[in-house]
Amino acid sequence: MQPSLQHYHAILHSRAAVFSPFDTQYPELSARGQSIVASTGTRRQLLQTASVLAIGAVAWKLATFRALAAGQVAMPSAASFPVRHTDAEWHRMLSPAQFDVLREEGTEAPFSSPLNHFYSKGTYDCLGCNNPAYASETKFDSGTGWPSFWKPLPNAVIERQDGSMGMQRTEVHCARCASHLGHVFDDGPAPTGLRYCMNGVALSFKPAPGVKPPQGA
Ligand SMILES: [Zn+2]
Repeated sequence: MQPSLQHYHAILHSRAAVFSPFDTQYPELSARGQSIVASTGTRRQLLQTASVLAIGAVAWKLATFRALAAGQVAMPSAASFPVRHTDAEWHRMLSPAQFDVLREEGTEAPFSSPLNHFYSKGTYDCLGCNNPAYASETKFDSGTGWPSFWKPLPNAVIERQDGSMGMQRTEVHCARCASHLGHVFDDGPAPTGLRYCMNGVALSFKPAPGVKPPQGA
């Protein structure tokens, strides 16, 4: 008797469970595997395809985890960012303190930014390219001495694992010009639980109409 389609579904899922402990993170992969099963008749090939997909997903995930553990996840190439400058151009555009944070991933001294205790309405833009990065509505007092937000504006930043200084941290970079803005930690307030710990020197406050910027910013 021919095994039923449901039987193959069961095999497919059991194989995925064996090979992919992260299966729930790949609903698109599971859905793709099922649709292939439903639409063709060569079941052996389909099982092989599903296994390859599952193994590939796990291999990619494990490679990523290893890279994360080693702090080796690379930034996208410079050419992939819409705003690009040479180092010489950045030096001309930025003060030494701004260059250190934005282009060399430095960190300003805590409590040094006039934006630290400032909560007027406006946006906080990347100083390197004026990309609006954070809204004042998401700013909060973290007590750390750095301007802190619980959420960036949509598509404003990208994140990269940073294994420097003997710590595992997540760097935050501008999505337009790749400039380093700060780090994000998972000890922030609701609703996200995230704390985007920014360098004030990397941000430019753009006040809402009628709002005055802080002195010295
Ligand atoms: Zn930028």
